[in-house]
Amino acid sequence: MPDLDPEEFRRLGHALVDWVAAHRAGLAELPVRPAVRPGEIRAALPADLPDKPADDLGVALTDLLDDVVVPGSLHWQHPGFYGYFPAQASLLSLLGDLASGGLGAQGMLWSTSPAGTEVEQVLVDGFARALGLGETFTFAGGGGGSLQDSASSAALVALLAALHRASPEWRETGVDGTERVYVTAETHSSLAKAVRVAGLGSRALRTVPFSPGTLAMSAEALGGMLAEDRAAGLRPVLVCPTVGTTGTGAIDPVREVCEVAGGAWVHVDAAWAGVAALCPEFRHVLDGAELADSVCTDAHKWLATAFDASFLWVRDGTALPAALSITPEYLRNAATDSGEVVDYRDWQVPLGRRFRALKLWAVVQGAGLEGLREGIRGHVALAQDLAARVEADPRFSLAAPPSLALVCLHVLGPDGEPDDAAGRALLERVNASGRAFLTHTTIDGRYAIRVAIGGLGTGPEHLDVLWAELTR
Ligand SMILES: *Cc1c(COP(=O)(O)O)cnc(C)c1O
Repeated sequence: MPDLDPEEFRRLGHALVDWVAAHRAGLAELPVRPAVRPGEIRAALPADLPDKPADDLGVALTDLLDDVVVPGSLHWQHPGFYGYFPAQASLLSLLGDLASGGLGAQGMLWSTSPAGTEVEQVLVDGFARALGLGETFTFAGGGGGSLQDSASSAALVALLAALHRASPEWRETGVDGTERVYVTAETHSSLAKAVRVAGLGSRALRTVPFSPGTLAMSAEALGGMLAEDRAAGLRPVLVCPTVGTTGTGAIDPVREVCEVAGGAWVHVDAAWAGVAALCPEFRHVLDGAELADSVCTDAHKWLATAFDASFLWVRDGTALPAALSITPEYLRNAATDSGEVVDYRDWQVPLGRRFRALKLWAVVQGAGLEGLREGIRGHVALAQDLAARVEADPRFSLAAPPSLALVCLHVLGPDGEPDDAAGRALLERVNASGRAFLTHTTIDGRYAIRVAIGGLGTGPEHLDVLWAELTR
């Protein structure tokens, strides 16, 4: 197949880098949300793929980007994007991603990519220390970390390691229906999905109540449920406290959960909020995580790294390979047999894997930990400013205590009570303006607008725009 020769790649690559640079430079002028109807984009594209190469690949690519992709995209990198959680695809990280693609190595085994493996090991050890997790989760400390594709995958492999620890014959016999997994009503849906994928069935999911007046797991109630279930012959396999729930940013009491878990695997899902622990003043969000069996936080949300890169650390560096390793003859090699290396295929579901560490390396070299901390602090300060405006305005109320850079608000009716219909209408009006983008949740059954601050370019001037739209 006629691939680009390196000189052609250099020319087209420069042009495409120019395109990305211009796109980012002009992003703030675009509407955040596209004005497209379902099916419109498909209908605008030729159904048949070309038999012959395009006359000018550069033009073919930029035409598609300019005419179809940009007008048809929700712009997650826009400074007015406050939906879901941020997905900071820094330009720094794109440099590392380009290098990773350029190398094109498969890092399933140490021997298939020694540098891919060991750069990642150094990086995850360094971040474990920088987040205040100490030595427990480092390779030197007997644990270890990896970069998964997502927090969802991290939860799944943590569950598989937990099943294996609970009964090693699981690898032979599968699950037996007595396994139980403990979450709250605010736990991310990826846990429920992991439970299904692992074949446990939804009956395995136990929903622990909140501590009164909060949306955080009650460790006391958890302790009671664990004792009850054990007495009934059931097997508590995994408990998942969340640090920064998706709905409201609530923080489950990780230390107390670890203290009552009684041998069940504790997986801390800190996908969004965990990275805040880089700042000493927010380190408390991971309080007690050093007692857990595994901890996950996403670099691809609030740590300036383009999707995908999710940290997963485990206290026992042998736990994931013990659960997941299968060695067919064609993967046998001397390095693996020596026991001196990490083969990251044993830490994940797929065999093949990308060199994700390069993009994070580019981020830490380019911004330094100080730059990353500055970004987090700036967003938290903006959230505090927004929360103060909400509190001072009789048309709104805080729907939950602000958590780091997440503010949830109710729109109030004339009676001073949350008005769900008015909230929905306001959110739709803001999103239709194209100047900001918001998503919602429900809190105690009432509609709440979520403002998740975290755009790399989001500053006070953008918050003013959002406030003007909210109060128009
Ligand atoms: C975003 C999020 C997830 C899922 O993240 P992915 O990395 O996209 O799988 C899981 N848990 C929490 C708390 C999250 O915020």
